[in-house]
Amino acid sequence: MSRAAEKGRGRLVIVSNRLPVSFFRRKGQLTAVESSGGLASGLRSLLRRRDFLWVGWPGLATDDLSPREREFVAGELAERHCRPVFLSRSEFDGYYRGFSNGMLWPLFHYFARYCSFSDAHWRAYVRANEAFARAVLDAVRPGDTVWVHDYHLMLLPAMLRAGATRLSIGFFLHIPFPSSELIRLLPRRRELLEGVLGADLVGFHVYDYVRHFLSSARLLTGHEHRIGRVWLREREVTVDAFPMGIDFGRFSGAGREPEVAAELARLRARVGSERIVLSVDRLDYTKGLPERLAAFELFLRRYPKYQGKVCLVMLVVPSRVRIVRYRELKQEIDELIGRINGRFGSVGWTPVHYLYRSVSFPELAALYRGADVALVTPLRDGMNLVAKEFVASRESGSGVLVLGEVAGAAGELVGALAVNPYDRGEVAGALAAALAMPESEQRQRLAMMRPRVEHYGVSHWAADFLDRLSEASRRRSHRPGHLTGTRRARLIADWRRARRRLVLLDYDGTLVDFAGRPEEAEPDPGLLRLLKRLGSGERTRVVIISGRPRTTLDRWFGATGADLVAEHGGWVRVRGRGWRTMTMAGTDWKRDVRPVLEDYANRTPGTEVEEKELALAWHYRRAESRLGEARADELCQVLVELAAGKHCEVVEGNRVVEVRNQGVDKGAAARLLIRRYRPDLVLAAGDDRTDEDTFAAVPADGHTIRVGAGPSRARFRVKSNRELRALLNALIGDDNDNSG
Ligand code: UDP
Repeated sequence: MSRAAEKGRGRLVIVSNRLPVSFFRRKGQLTAVESSGGLASGLRSLLRRRDFLWVGWPGLATDDLSPREREFVAGELAERHCRPVFLSRSEFDGYYRGFSNGMLWPLFHYFARYCSFSDAHWRAYVRANEAFARAVLDAVRPGDTVWVHDYHLMLLPAMLRAGATRLSIGFFLHIPFPSSELIRLLPRRRELLEGVLGADLVGFHVYDYVRHFLSSARLLTGHEHRIGRVWLREREVTVDAFPMGIDFGRFSGAGREPEVAAELARLRARVGSERIVLSVDRLDYTKGLPERLAAFELFLRRYPKYQGKVCLVMLVVPSRVRIVRYRELKQEIDELIGRINGRFGSVGWTPVHYLYRSVSFPELAALYRGADVALVTPLRDGMNLVAKEFVASRESGSGVLVLGEVAGAAGELVGALAVNPYDRGEVAGALAAALAMPESEQRQRLAMMRPRVEHYGVSHWAADFLDRLSEASRRRSHRPGHLTGTRRARLIADWRRARRRLVLLDYDGTLVDFAGRPEEAEPDPGLLRLLKRLGSGERTRVVIISGRPRTTLDRWFGATGADLVAEHGGWVRVRGRGWRTMTMAGTDWKRDVRPVLEDYANRTPGTEVEEKELALAWHYRRAESRLGEARADELCQVLVELAAGKHCEVVEGNRVVEVRNQGVDKGAAARLLIRRYRPDLVLAAGDDRTDEDTFAAVPADGHTIRVGAGPSRARFRVKSNRELRALLNALIGDDNDNSG
């Protein structure tokens, strides 16, 4: 896309707790410091190409700023496309230290024992989110896209939605989203989940977090979901995984920078010829630092040959130092390092080199380059960028990554030695294996990871998220209008004018209510009369376009004169002719799929398998609702994998999961009939996802009607099949009036 076109798209409004520029007071003077955080540097290239505004906390509380200073801060920030959210010291304390880092952070990292909840903190969290909402709503213009970041702002999407219903809103969580068992422990969990669901697109690092979020939403808010979409009354929310990456080129190319070479020389001078095990983290109890030190100590004891030959360089970047738990952790680490160095060290050898500070980029790049092994063993981590940065830095092809299996990055970094961070013996063993690994294997393992880290860099991540967001917003911004008043009158007027009309009607849910069992939903005499009369004139063709088998359709509708489409478009029967199939592919896939469906039917009371010619369906309308939904989810996942590479696909309807021949859908059949009859008016009605394919096939000026609630691409909506039947009856009446 050209720069002009990108600019024309409306601004990108990024909202995060911290701005990419923070203010500090140094010797009484306000100073702005640019943050080099992952998000700020990751979005840099994107922001060069797009108009943007960044909304966040400027680093100082309102109590610490005079009114004039506040103006100064806002002015300085405006020049950098930033807008401050001012909070008082106590508000910030309750929101940031209290609820965000005292409740959400530990809980989401599975440290429930560290959680502390207080109503005052919660109130501060709500107030702070409201302050962010005011700042954003004040600033946004039509056409802008808002991207909200992280656990500090989980209420914000819904607050923004309430204030600007048409706004395109994305939310990304940078930390893990834990199992619903943990979320259940959270006071105010409903508000938080509903808050996040204000967005059009919700992103997490990995698919496990997506799963956890979807099941928490279903369990605690009652919103159903299907294949990554949560269904609210009037909207749907897309939920997906977007693993965050790094600026690969910056780390991979750092070797050419003279500052990095100088730092590398300094490192070598300090550790001599010893081999280096590297550990880089922010100070946090989720990073497993005491456990890592204990594992290193065990390694030295179990593999004494490495004593004097290997050292651990441990960089700990100070963080949240005003929180007691972090200060205690710091003390524990200091003591452990003292103990290891005291016990194992000698005059010429320090087992652990401890750096408690942040380092410059050249120094960090030199550490990544100088190390033989990176030891990354968080007890829980949303992603872990350090692991990726290490991989990117090893363009020489050597170096081994030992990675804790509960880091979000573990799924992507398949060439690492995976360890359970709580298992000291395993970590010690992996360390020994890493140090003894032949270089050919090191190369092989790195080659498995580097292309992935390079390709899914941070710019790719951001672009991918924003693309998906604009797609999700486009879908949401379309709402079928209720078919009453002038809309209804206009449709009737069009009907009256039309010479050749085609009426495409789904059956179950659209013309009749659902019955407990499929075979019980027989059409009533009133409906059969209606269909017959509707199609009786020369001008109107009626088509029943259903998922039902053709034998059922023949039996039920044979006498109405309607054309019939069976099995979601698999078979078409035009009045006066025989059935014609729409697919040439065979149904060999049934052999593998049938036993799976039967197994689910056996295991789930109230469910049954229906065999059609081109499809197999598993119905769960009569199952206990929660169990049915849970099994349907699970089944879909199994089936999607099973269907890969076969001529079949998995589709979900209203309380039914169906596998059918690929390329067969109601849309293909609808297109065929539209080509055949060349109607000047198409009226199509349906109630579930499979009917969306029909709607997509109807020309833009056609009359597409969604029966019931839920998102749809249809132009109009009616509340129930009774309302639709009343409309069809009105059309028949109108025909009779005109002809009479
Ligand atoms: N990092 C930093 N300053 C330092 C050392 C490291 O900013 O002195 C960076 C490091 O390059 C990495 C980030 O801090 O990008 C840590 O990200 P990670 O996902 O590993 O952990 P988080 O701190 O986000 O939990």
